[in-house]
Amino acid sequence: MATINDNYLKLAGSYLFAEIGRRVAAFKEANPQADIIRLGIGDVTQPLPAACIEAMHKAVDELSQAETFRGYGPEQGYSFLTDAIIENNYTKRGISIDSDEIFVSDGSKSDCGNIQEIFGLDNKVAITDPVYPVYLDTNVMAGRTGTLQADGHFEGVTYLPCDASNNFAPELPKDHVDMIYLCCPNNPTGTTLSRAELKKWVDYARENQSVILFDAAYAAYITEEDVPRSIYEIEGAKDVAIEFRSFSKTAGFTGTRCGYTIIPKTVKGRAADGTLVEFNKLWNRRHTTKFNGTAYIVQRGAAAIYTPEGQQQVKELVGYYMENARIIREGLEAAGITAYGGVNAPYIWLKTPNGMSSWDFFDKLLTEVNIVGTPGAGFGPCGEGYFRLTAFGDRENTLRAVERIKTKLRF
Ligand code: PLP
Repeated sequence: MATINDNYLKLAGSYLFAEIGRRVAAFKEANPQADIIRLGIGDVTQPLPAACIEAMHKAVDELSQAETFRGYGPEQGYSFLTDAIIENNYTKRGISIDSDEIFVSDGSKSDCGNIQEIFGLDNKVAITDPVYPVYLDTNVMAGRTGTLQADGHFEGVTYLPCDASNNFAPELPKDHVDMIYLCCPNNPTGTTLSRAELKKWVDYARENQSVILFDAAYAAYITEEDVPRSIYEIEGAKDVAIEFRSFSKTAGFTGTRCGYTIIPKTVKGRAADGTLVEFNKLWNRRHTTKFNGTAYIVQRGAAAIYTPEGQQQVKELVGYYMENARIIREGLEAAGITAYGGVNAPYIWLKTPNGMSSWDFFDKLLTEVNIVGTPGAGFGPCGEGYFRLTAFGDRENTLRAVERIKTKLRF
């Protein structure tokens, strides 16, 4: 009989959103009149920028004519898109990225999840806690961890706790680690690392010959000057860091699907025979073997965000969500709740009042004010005692939700 990859059995079921769905459904059944507002979603709600729509319509028309039809494209992405990304997100910030150091994909979930395939199974993995679950789960699937322990940690993984006590900036690990996942701005905490904090990690990686896997999916939301938009703004990072970016939250591409990964040729790992090998080469091999390119229409839409109109529209879109973030953050503070994030990210991470567990707070918010959020414990053991609200809702619902929290929630 065929055998299975037993590592998959180490993973708990995707409990978080299933459990939220179950509790909301039960509440709705018992209270059919309740006007529930969802501030738990990680998906955007506003339409694509007009510049993207126009570019995609045009691309569809091109595909309708034999002269302008396109079939398979370059797996790494069309140069009209990669050139625009490099120019706008890197060259303009003083970072030099070569055209063969960028790989366009169908979004950064795939890239963040797949990147571990080009690393040896004996690498020691460090992951911030709490964080986007994809980094951990994909390493569990690959067999780079032991089993899940009673404390919610996987054996063999170095967790880097991030909470209010360290200002959500993880401390360097005491033991040596090889692969370091950093998510900045962070999902779920909405917090960021300053230039000085990030430099500590780049220095650590250089000294320890580790690789930083830097997820900058929310880079477009950064407002403060001291927060790097790219890890390559830190000197020396090009030797030790791989960066992931996405059009999902930047321009509403969660359903349209487009992202990219930067792998400088200077980032290297050791082969079994001791030779140094560029991770770029391995990823190129993997990408061209397992991926057949992002749709031409989608890449045209993505490239349109770099036109002057596109830039303006994206700024407005991000500004819309960030205004929601401000409304939520200030509303929580007015209600006496301590809140983090929401300044450089569309996530607000609140401390549950009176030491409540994050699931107890979920129930309280649902039953007392009919608002759905996400319990922090779902993002890692250090998320316990915290709760995530997102700024991706529409303005009206965001205002209504905050008003309810301010006037009806009692502690
Ligand atoms: N990285 C982080 C931190 C995210 O929160 C998300 C999506 O929620 C992604 C990556 C995935 O983005 P994409 O839609 O590009 O796959």
